Amino acid sequence: MGFDTSGLLPLSDALQGMLEQLACCCDTEQLPLPEALGRILADDIASPLSVPPFDNSAMDGYAVRLADLAAGTPLIMAGKAFAGQPYQGEWPAGHCVRIMTGAPVPAGTDAVVMQEETRADGERITFLCQPVPGQNIRRAGSDMAKGACVLGAGTRLTPREMPLLASLGIATVNVRRPLRVAIFSTGDELKPVGTPLAHGDIYDSNRYGVKAMLARLGCDCLDLGILPDNPDLLRAAFIRADQEADVLITTGGVSVGEADFTKQLLDELGEIGFWKLAIKPGKPFAFGRLPHAWFFGLPGNPVSAMVTFDQLVQPALAKLAGQRFERPLQLQAVAAEPLKKSPGRLDFQRGILCQGPNGLEVRSTGSQDSAVFSSLSRANCYIVLERERGRVAAGETVTVEPFGGLLL
Ligand code: AMP
Ligand code: MG
Repeated sequence: MGFDTSGLLPLSDALQGMLEQLACCCDTEQLPLPEALGRILADDIASPLSVPPFDNSAMDGYAVRLADLAAGTPLIMAGKAFAGQPYQGEWPAGHCVRIMTGAPVPAGTDAVVMQEETRADGERITFLCQPVPGQNIRRAGSDMAKGACVLGAGTRLTPREMPLLASLGIATVNVRRPLRVAIFSTGDELKPVGTPLAHGDIYDSNRYGVKAMLARLGCDCLDLGILPDNPDLLRAAFIRADQEADVLITTGGVSVGEADFTKQLLDELGEIGFWKLAIKPGKPFAFGRLPHAWFFGLPGNPVSAMVTFDQLVQPALAKLAGQRFERPLQLQAVAAEPLKKSPGRLDFQRGILCQGPNGLEVRSTGSQDSAVFSSLSRANCYIVLERERGRVAAGETVTVEPFGGLLL
């Protein structure tokens, strides 16, 4: 069945081999908080204060002392506490303090009783429920304690971190500069969009996919365009990328065809490892180094280029950029239809995951040929089928990996 796949390199070995060689190569800069969105923190952030900074009310209601409620008679309102305007008056026995959400609770407060659980008759407040100690009080430091590490170095700043940092009063952050990534496509047949095609030509699509993924990752992209299968022009582009970027990513020219010059040039200028990976799509993949830049050679087939970027290049770029990287979650789902598969390679089939009546269900997007774009654009997940697994029958459980931020 099929060809011999025993010599193919497992994805996990390729990933480990690459990551072992790579280290963060981006120095740091200090940026105002709003400009740091999408950047990667260079340092751990310890909270400079407690959040919330003081005990405060979680409700609009009344601050009470339990001892005053013990008599079971109404309490007299002593005054009011607003957010930003603490109550500073006396608090005699038998009294309560009207309090709004976010206002500091007066010293001695045991609980806040929400307004809906009281009845007011002028200044006389009747309490309809017995509060438990601490009820509706947000304690100082209960969210973040002063001095605690709230974000680790390597965290990418998303909209979720911005309000957190602002709540700590942090106006500037120390972040990594963006990774500089040069890209080009190779192939005599490739034409840029917006130009006519001659017979035998196709549009260069990979560069648009790679560029979009680099934008998602916050990299600075140096786009060197399309290069024909010409060793002299390719050599010049490799040298320019090496001088101007931290990383070069190319697509095409990494197979064993007669117009595949990548290997020859990388041997001449740097070092190259050509890997035949035990994954589908994406068998040919090159990883190496130029004198100053790292090199990733993606397969020419569009789906293979996207999948190898997502699975292999993304974690590598994260390491170079100083980012802590976690792969998207993998889940179990039931195959709603049979899936074609031959043993020998780890398959990243493109699937559509949905909620069925009995749990998660997944179906294929159709042809899984690595030249079929629609298989990727209609998908919302990978169906990850183990290397030695064969054909999957409808009803079998399979592993799915919903697309992460890179592809969404
Ligand atoms: P190669 O890896 O150069 O042998 O290319 C493998 C297949 O991918 C061929 O069918 C190429 O025409 C196609 N291909 C290569 N580069 C691109 C690209 N940038 N955009 C679209 N298809 C490509
Ligand atoms: Mg080619």
